[in-house]
Amino acid sequence: MDVEGKKEKKKRVKKQRIHMSIQDSAERIRNFEEVALGFTEKEAIEEASRCLQCKRPRCLKGCPVDVNIPAFIEKIIDGEIDEAKKIILATNSLPAITGRVCPQENQCQEFCIHPNAISIGSLERYVADNGKRPETITKENLETKIAIVGSGPSGLTCAAELANLGHKVSLYEVLHDYGGVLTYGIPEFRMPKRIVREEVEYIQSLGVKLETDILIGRTITVEELLNEYKFNAVYIASGAGAPNFLGILGETLNGVFSANEFLTRVNLLKGYKFPEYDTPVTVGEKVAIIGAGNVAMDCARTALRLGARESDIIYRRSEGEIPARLEEIIHAKDEGVVIGELTSPLEMLGDEKGNVVGLKCMRMTLGEKDDSGRRRPIPIPNSDFIFPVNTVIVAIGQKPNQLIAQTTPGLETTRWGTFVHDKETGKTSRERIYCGGDVATGAATVILAMEAGRKAAKAIHEMILEKDLKSET
Ligand SMILES: Cc1cc2nc3c(=O)[nH]c(=O)nc-3n(C[C@H](O)[C@H](O)[C@H](O)COP(=O)(O)OP(=O)(O)OC[C@H]3O[C@@H](n4cnc5c(N)ncnc54)[C@H](O)[C@@H]3O)c2cc1C
Repeated sequence: MDVEGKKEKKKRVKKQRIHMSIQDSAERIRNFEEVALGFTEKEAIEEASRCLQCKRPRCLKGCPVDVNIPAFIEKIIDGEIDEAKKIILATNSLPAITGRVCPQENQCQEFCIHPNAISIGSLERYVADNGKRPETITKENLETKIAIVGSGPSGLTCAAELANLGHKVSLYEVLHDYGGVLTYGIPEFRMPKRIVREEVEYIQSLGVKLETDILIGRTITVEELLNEYKFNAVYIASGAGAPNFLGILGETLNGVFSANEFLTRVNLLKGYKFPEYDTPVTVGEKVAIIGAGNVAMDCARTALRLGARESDIIYRRSEGEIPARLEEIIHAKDEGVVIGELTSPLEMLGDEKGNVVGLKCMRMTLGEKDDSGRRRPIPIPNSDFIFPVNTVIVAIGQKPNQLIAQTTPGLETTRWGTFVHDKETGKTSRERIYCGGDVATGAATVILAMEAGRKAAKAIHEMILEKDLKSET
């Protein structure tokens, strides 16, 4: 590197990170509008100009869908936003979504060598929101038909990839709206539904046929998709929508919700707009949320917006081990969510009318690291106490619904109810049936679900080409 180059690099290293503007916390807990407001053009260029444009960029290692990060950042500096978007779309068909919800601090940004990692996620969001999508060309030049089950990020990504490769794609969704967790789980203040709609419209513009209100495994079985509807392959991306429960006394009391039920009522059924929409959802003054992942944070922040005076996360490990995205933890705390660390629930207590009124808990301490690499929580003897509550939301993880496994002969599952599959291709134990996303891995992340969709699309395409070749010889 010449002297000028070295000087420029030093200048870039010294630049401080630009943060996106956000709605003020006192204001935002009274509405469901998006919290983070995105970069202005000036902010985006300033942030992009901190990128060191490394010769061997490490950030690439941290992106499961292989976005060419330095290349799109360079285009922002040059003011070529449409070009930047083209670069991202080459490998990521849902950038407005990943730019908002990816845990960047554990992915691309973790590998960034700048002392203050570049806000890659915020820049991706800026490009997705402000750049034009290139004209779509509907290909469908092959005779093959592929069925996709589930319209979450994994199904949508696989559909887009296969449509771009020229296959005829039909996507089946059981709910009345598309997007999977992006629509029914993640709240409007974090994932505006208009963004999900735009991404779904893009997938439709590629020629993918979408159908709602179809429960695969009941309305149509996977067997029927293959044998009667004559699909060449099926990709199952039905997610992990069945909630886990604690199995403690009092879990069926009034006022106790699973996170899935609570968030579905609020988001998919628009309970936060009651009575404009006719789904009632009420919370008491004191709400306890059990668990500390993204789902728990979303419940805690939603409860405040619905009028709770207190919203407490009950978590058996310490705050440093919380699995939620860093940004969500910071936003939740700013809004007044209290993190009750090292606390484990033992029983839910009810009044004579069957309403939950208390949570019997015990204090925990941390022991040695367990298989997850985190320190194991250990109960402290005689530390029980009662925590008064009016609403409890259980957010301790989800698992796949077993309907498809039960109605598709020969489709093997693991003891966690996920499908046995090949990690590189998504191939299941049955010919022509592939899977990916949460139904394959258990509850994970949007970007991993998308990565699986891409890999399976490639594998399905190759399988079909191979079959064609064999039939020709
Ligand atoms: C509240 C919440 C917040 C989250 N926050 C984040 C976050 O900030 N960042 C992040 O990266 N990840 C987050 N996640 C995790 C992430 O959303 C999931 O990992 C991801 O959505 C999985 O994608 P998927 O396509 O595999 O499944 P899903 O998104 O679950 O989609 C599956 C779809 O299949 C449909 N379906 C199911 N069974 C059938 C059937 N038999 N027939 C037809 N359709 C069917 C479902 O209705 C659903 O629409 C969050 C999850 C939740 C619940």
